[in-house]
Amino acid sequence: MPPKQSGSSNSYIPDNTGIESIAITLPNMARPLKIMFVSPEVYPFAKTGGLGDVSGALPLALKQQGHDVRVILPKYRSVDESKRSVQPMGLTVAVPIGPEVKHGELYEARLNRTVPVYFVDQDNYFDREGLYGNTDGDYPDNAERFIFFDRAVLEACKALDFQPDIIHCNDWPTGLIPCYLKTTFAGDPFFKTTRSVFSIHNMGYQGNFDERYFPLAHLPWKVFTIEGIEFYGFFSFMKAGLVYGDRLTTVSKTYSKEILTPENGFHMDGVLRQYQKKLSGILNGADYVKWDPQTDSRIKTRYGPKSLKGKKECKKSLLRKLSIKLTEETPLICMVTRLSQQKGIDLLIQNFVELMVQDAALVILGSGEERYETFFMEQSEIYPKRFRYINGFDEKLAHQIIAGSDLLLMPSLYEPCGLTQMYALRYGTVPVVRRVGGLADTIKAFQSGKNQGTGFLFKTSEADDWISLLQKALDLFSKKKVWKSLMLNGMKQDFSWEKSAKEYVRLYRRTLKKD
Ligand code: ADP
Repeated sequence: MPPKQSGSSNSYIPDNTGIESIAITLPNMARPLKIMFVSPEVYPFAKTGGLGDVSGALPLALKQQGHDVRVILPKYRSVDESKRSVQPMGLTVAVPIGPEVKHGELYEARLNRTVPVYFVDQDNYFDREGLYGNTDGDYPDNAERFIFFDRAVLEACKALDFQPDIIHCNDWPTGLIPCYLKTTFAGDPFFKTTRSVFSIHNMGYQGNFDERYFPLAHLPWKVFTIEGIEFYGFFSFMKAGLVYGDRLTTVSKTYSKEILTPENGFHMDGVLRQYQKKLSGILNGADYVKWDPQTDSRIKTRYGPKSLKGKKECKKSLLRKLSIKLTEETPLICMVTRLSQQKGIDLLIQNFVELMVQDAALVILGSGEERYETFFMEQSEIYPKRFRYINGFDEKLAHQIIAGSDLLLMPSLYEPCGLTQMYALRYGTVPVVRRVGGLADTIKAFQSGKNQGTGFLFKTSEADDWISLLQKALDLFSKKKVWKSLMLNGMKQDFSWEKSAKEYVRLYRRTLKKD
């Protein structure tokens, strides 16, 4: 019989020994942790951006380090049951929502055949076209949808008899979980030793809702105060996570400082400063199982630092696919992005004409705000030889574009971590980025003469003139030897998850040791 482990304590009492009162203390490092990883999106089941990638990769890295990690997310329409062998578990959870009780069915699948992934099925809430909204905008009942999900996660832990040491919550849709643990479930012996970690992936999305949704959550009114989850009169999911989470993390060191300012803290900087002691920055990793040109089955020809020939084939094939006529000597610039203000799209628009007179072509894969989509659709008619816009979300094409391009543009106004630039580095596609957040932490400036660096960075104060930096990069493209060393510098960077996962484990252990 395996030893009985109790919550976060390191002691266990062996069974069947006849000696009842001997407690053996294991060194802290020896005990695997039980982690419930909660996220509103998890690749390959549901993804709108980087959070999906993180949630599909970090749990696997934690598992590889010997921990019992489980993942949970809503069962959206995009969760393809037949393709991913998602099975009903015959377990139901009941959640009070205002005067009603709503039920959720639990489903199960596996990430890479190892990590259990649970889904909360509630058709009225989640069987919809998008995760958070559709082309008309955010779903008006998002508060209710994620109140249901957050409480359902805690009920699911009980239904599964999985008593987590750590519940790792990600972004505002999971923000109420730490608050439930500290209030509604505070006296519940099941969660007595459970602690929460709340990770901020983007302060720009806070889940602030009208006060009238608050009673749906069945939380005590005493938390709806300025010290609690009230934010300028709104019911704030993000603030709930920040105030009640036992530890807070965000996804790069630079961003962990930037969010302490009103601009990038989106006015929640005061709260963050108040809880700064529990905040740390842990850089996201890149999933090199899925994003490596040496093994990527989605690209035309595989390649790596030792043989770059395949990259040329990828470029040719991409140009053919997009019907762009371009010589090998002409650089191809790409963007694969959500079309939101955050991504610096306005900067691109302001300089679009200047960009189009460069000896280069540009391809953009992205969807999002209608004003940006319309602009790019119009421009692709004006500049049919220089510009292609693909409106949509296409995972396979994203790989092909990153492999087939020479430069990646990321002029983001702010970037908590950013994964696309890490993928680009691995594919020998040189990033031109704004020096903010995770972009500042992952891209090293090219230094002419020394052949050092991995890309090109401009400061916000230099944004008016960023085109001249791009020109510098484009000029360098013709200097084949220098360009090759720039590509190789990038391809050799290692942002694998292992290091970050170890940092998370250290943080989990510190969180448990706190009491
Ligand atoms: P964010 O999370 O802010 O959107 P990241 O750079 O961290 O930005 O992650 C974006 C992820 O989403 C990457 O995996 C990128 O390839 C993917 N992505 C973004 N837009 C698209 C798109 N239109 N089609 C396919 N993948 C996309």
